[in-house]
Amino acid sequence: MVSRVIPVEPFDLVIFGGTGDLTRRKILPALFRRYCAGQLPPTARIIGAARSEYDQAGYRDFAAIAIAEFSDLTPASEAKLGRFLECLDYVAIDAKGDRGWQELALKVTGNRVRAFYFSVGPGLFGALAQRIQSSGMANETCRIVVEKPFGHDLASAKALNKTLAAYFDEGQIYRIDHYLGKETVQNLMAVRFGNVLFEPLWNSNYVDHIQITVAETVGVGGRGGYYDKAGAMRDMMQNHLMQLLCLIAMEPPAKFEPDSVRDEKLKVIRALEPVEPHHIVRGQYLANADDKDEHPSYREAVGDPRSSTESYIALKTHISTWRWAGTPFYLRTGKRLVARSSVINVVFKEVPHAIFGQVAGDYANILTIRLQPDEGITMTVTIKEPGPGGMRLMHVPLDMSFAEALGPDGENPPDAYERLIMDVIRGNQTLFMRGDEVEAAWAWTDPVIAGWQARGDVPKPYDSGAIGPGDADQLMARDNREWRGIKP
Ligand code: NAP
Repeated sequence: MVSRVIPVEPFDLVIFGGTGDLTRRKILPALFRRYCAGQLPPTARIIGAARSEYDQAGYRDFAAIAIAEFSDLTPASEAKLGRFLECLDYVAIDAKGDRGWQELALKVTGNRVRAFYFSVGPGLFGALAQRIQSSGMANETCRIVVEKPFGHDLASAKALNKTLAAYFDEGQIYRIDHYLGKETVQNLMAVRFGNVLFEPLWNSNYVDHIQITVAETVGVGGRGGYYDKAGAMRDMMQNHLMQLLCLIAMEPPAKFEPDSVRDEKLKVIRALEPVEPHHIVRGQYLANADDKDEHPSYREAVGDPRSSTESYIALKTHISTWRWAGTPFYLRTGKRLVARSSVINVVFKEVPHAIFGQVAGDYANILTIRLQPDEGITMTVTIKEPGPGGMRLMHVPLDMSFAEALGPDGENPPDAYERLIMDVIRGNQTLFMRGDEVEAAWAWTDPVIAGWQARGDVPKPYDSGAIGPGDADQLMARDNREWRGIKP
């Protein structure tokens, strides 16, 4: 099966922070892959902008190195690299000063899509927004892309929203949560709303509970300074896991249009019950016993022997709606765990009357949505054990691995950034967070953080390369349930 690629219209994309880590690792490789797929018009202009001194040729060299490092070049794509680099330009600019703005304004011209990617720290958002306007580059259809973190609490998110709203309409602001750009995350909506099979069962009458796991094997690495101020609650739970929860739990939107979808997501966040303190487990990873130098403890990695920031969090929450009253949602995320795995499990209730007697083992029906690695969906069903000798039942997975089912398209779905940047150019905000969504997510998160700050809560230590603190298992065991998805 070969997917249809519809080229986007000519555009100017200015990447503020054009020399930064995100640009190197994600943005430039994503643009290159879309170019190779035939989606970028040859007249596209991509302009890096940062304080470092590069001329056009120097920036093209910089981009070529980044693409070679982060793009899995093939002979076919390598042959296209030179033409892609011709789309690239660079302006040395200071977000906080006058340098470079006139030169940039001379390059961003004509009647074409204009997008400004703020791949810089949030402290520069206001200065950039103001200078885009004052240098005359803003027009009614231009758009800005802002990266996470969008604030560190409700007050700071409100302030950022207010700053951006002074220069741009909400319809021009694209707040990225790259989880929303993942193929399977959108498949979640396709599965729910494109099939008649699931939606009638998608409620507390039939769903016992839902689990969302986002497990990472990496530690904080070089991001210790930022991470120690944020922790897993702010860095992952408030955005990525919350967004997944919204897509799983939301009502069917009237249309697949930006505000229809985002209105429904917002209702979910606003219906989330506050989390009880005894329904939260925080953890902090220890050093890897075999390899302390390569994999130090969290505290060593952030350089603070007394840090009480969590690198792991597990919690249980409820959604106060008719659909979900009584169905618990269990969410967990952590670093330095045994496997890199993002997975959602929708665990259905047992049959109301067991005519075959007790079936050994697990729940009869579990819908497992794997976001990474090996994106795909599995439905566990109950069947008869083969062979004579009575009616014994067993659980088997009906597996749909996208790589197998979709051939080459399934093996290499576009990276989240590829999809999201193309959506920006096309002007489709469906997969981007609206300002009120972000604020509602912080309004739910803030009291949780304030609670453990008030109690002087200290995270539980957990072994590197394991499954997290034992208390997280207890959180489940108290409800006669267990985590699924990652195994030691
Ligand atoms: P970074 O490597 O520190 O890059 C920051 C960029 O901003 C550099 O290009 C820097 O270039 C430029 N810059 C700094 N001050 C400037 C100024 N006054 N005027 C103009 N340019 C300036 O940061 P990053 O990791 O790429 O992250 C960028 C944003 O994306 C942050 O908000 C981060 O939270 C977010 N993010 C990053 C990742 C990731 O994987 N890296 C993932 C998710 C979100 P010069 O020094 O040349 O000016």
